[in-house]
Amino acid sequence: MRPEILYPFFADTVSLPGVGGRIATLLGKIVGRKVLDMFWHLPVDMIDRGAMPKLGEITYDHVVTCEVTIDKHDAPLRGSRRPYRVWCHDATGQMQIIFFHAKGDYIQRQLPEGELRLISGKVEIFNGQLQMTHPDYMLRQDQRDQIPKVEPIYPLTAGISGKVMAKIIGGALERLVDLPEWQDTSLLAREKWPSWRAAVEAAHRPESQGDLLTSSPARMRLAYDEFLANQLALEIMRRQVKKKKGRSLTPTGKLKDQLVAHLPYQLTGAQQRSLAEIEQDLAAPYAMMRLLQGDVGSGKTVVALAALLTAVENGAQGAMIAPTEILARQHYDSLLEMTENLNVRVAVLTGRDKGKTRAALLTDLAAGEIDILVGTHALFQKDVIYHDLAFVVIDEQHRFGVEQRMALSAKGRAGAAMDVLAMTATPIPRTLTLTAYGDMDASRLDEKPPGRKPIDTRTIPLNRLDEVVQGIRRAITTGTRVFWICPLVEESEVLDLAAAKERFRHLEQVFGTRVGLVHGKMKPKEKDQVMAKFAGGDLDILVATTVVEVGVNVPEATIMVIEHAERFGLSQLHQLRGRVGRGADKSTCLLLYGTLGGETAKARLKIMRETEDGFLIAEEDLRLRGAGELLGTRQSGLPNFRVASLEEQGSLIAMARDDARMILEKDPELKSGRGQALRVLLYLFERDEGVKYLTSG
Ligand code: ADP
Ligand code: MG
Repeated sequence: MRPEILYPFFADTVSLPGVGGRIATLLGKIVGRKVLDMFWHLPVDMIDRGAMPKLGEITYDHVVTCEVTIDKHDAPLRGSRRPYRVWCHDATGQMQIIFFHAKGDYIQRQLPEGELRLISGKVEIFNGQLQMTHPDYMLRQDQRDQIPKVEPIYPLTAGISGKVMAKIIGGALERLVDLPEWQDTSLLAREKWPSWRAAVEAAHRPESQGDLLTSSPARMRLAYDEFLANQLALEIMRRQVKKKKGRSLTPTGKLKDQLVAHLPYQLTGAQQRSLAEIEQDLAAPYAMMRLLQGDVGSGKTVVALAALLTAVENGAQGAMIAPTEILARQHYDSLLEMTENLNVRVAVLTGRDKGKTRAALLTDLAAGEIDILVGTHALFQKDVIYHDLAFVVIDEQHRFGVEQRMALSAKGRAGAAMDVLAMTATPIPRTLTLTAYGDMDASRLDEKPPGRKPIDTRTIPLNRLDEVVQGIRRAITTGTRVFWICPLVEESEVLDLAAAKERFRHLEQVFGTRVGLVHGKMKPKEKDQVMAKFAGGDLDILVATTVVEVGVNVPEATIMVIEHAERFGLSQLHQLRGRVGRGADKSTCLLLYGTLGGETAKARLKIMRETEDGFLIAEEDLRLRGAGELLGTRQSGLPNFRVASLEEQGSLIAMARDDARMILEKDPELKSGRGQALRVLLYLFERDEGVKYLTSG
């Protein structure tokens, strides 16, 4: 249960002064609906009205406060469009104060000639002359304290002005209370970090530009709080899984050795290392929760199979789940091929299997006559009953929800948690792995199987499309197959589809009927049919929106064209490129770009030309663009951070991880004083999902 002290933070923003339904809705779009969300909405800049430069010192346009003597008023004639000007000066220079549509007598009263006034507003330099239009403040010297020294500048949304936003957040800050300290006091002392409340206040009330930096003590403290909440939550889950008794699946090598003996290749060092890590987990008496990361083509499937065979060696069953029908069938095909000489029965089950075949398969499954079942979500269905399911491989695990994972682990034997191996071809930088998959142990396939030909990657401006088409015409005559990925127009499937259809028609005009189109709006069956035609060689060119699934294997495809490559994330480009270079022939990837806005866009495409290392690409992408944009947060399974910046404060994560482990080692139920405070932290950052496990034991 949420600690009472936090209740006011979780109130709706409409409870704040100046916030009605309309504003609350607008706020909800960019900040959030709760008072708490306002705390995390930090200023990006500030106006420093406290700095009082002499007029002669002002060299650029910015907001200042100056002390000036009012000189001449230059009022426009009635009906004239000229603005009202007031001249003023100090010892170092002169300035014009400008008013449009001004009421002369009001200005006369505010700025009496010959008197000293404090003027605050944005000064602009126009033809070497200082001007200030409609000052924010015009006050006597004794009214000085009416001018706020520093005003935070917040990121805004349409419909909410800077003043209103500042007022709303000011209102939220009124609700701040001291919270029990959850950080180690010696850490706070060492880093010179303030208390949580002081940190929130300081972050919203910068006194200098330095206070706005992510390296400022207040912001570092808040970021560390958030990372600690993240790591603590993951560690709680991890311990929860580890605590559950799992099956001890000891590899006998009986089947695995046969598999390895029959493979037409040797396992790479990375494959052997990963497999050893997996086998160690399987043999251990707790449930495995491991992530196998590896680029497309790095050879995850054979590792997964070898691991699945361990379950079979122990007389149990294994399952392998893929996010799509196509992928499930491909996995099935490759497992079937690899187990050809083994006494192991592999079967496949997808949503497409119905009626008698399905019924027969389920009977065999329940009887234990199927050793390894491959499939899609269909494997979670209620009536799918296993004889003795002990181990599950989940491919592209971020596509599956927590509930689905839960549904699956309920299918094992009572009292023993399932061993789970998650696989992903989405390379994630090390720092992010900790935040996204910190609850799992990770193995990396960072070594490509030998003999792969490098993919020749080129960047070409879109206006040379005709040349590209001619080049493809020549290539096709030699039997090459081509993937043609259409641009992401925007986050709109309708527009993406329109663009893909247009390109399809264009290519159809050039190449005739040997061009196919797949897109996200097609029924799975139609999609499969087109894919199958392409894989079978009935089509030369496959035009696709980005639905070309990770893992789809067409070794004859050796050309990948990606239109408007600059609109894709690097990791996405990398994965798309991974569709080619799978056969014996040399492959090419053509990145067609529209306009390359800045240096970053150029640098990004350059990385694609220079390396095929997915991990390196992911690190560079993070460096260039920031984690938020990396892949699209949701797609990649990365958590959202409210105040912490992965790019700039990511170095704190490892520290938070160690801290979280130590804390739970000492106080596994978070019962101590500090433990209670840490519970508050988990609720504060809404990472309290695991708290229930602490008490239920
Ligand atoms: P991933 O699932 O990681 O994208 P796959 O498991 O589909 O990769 O493997 C890609 C290809 O590489 C397959 O054709 C597979 O047979 C082959 N392969 C896997 N491991 C090796 C190896 N050690 N040496 C040579 N080829 C390998
Ligand atoms: Mg694969």
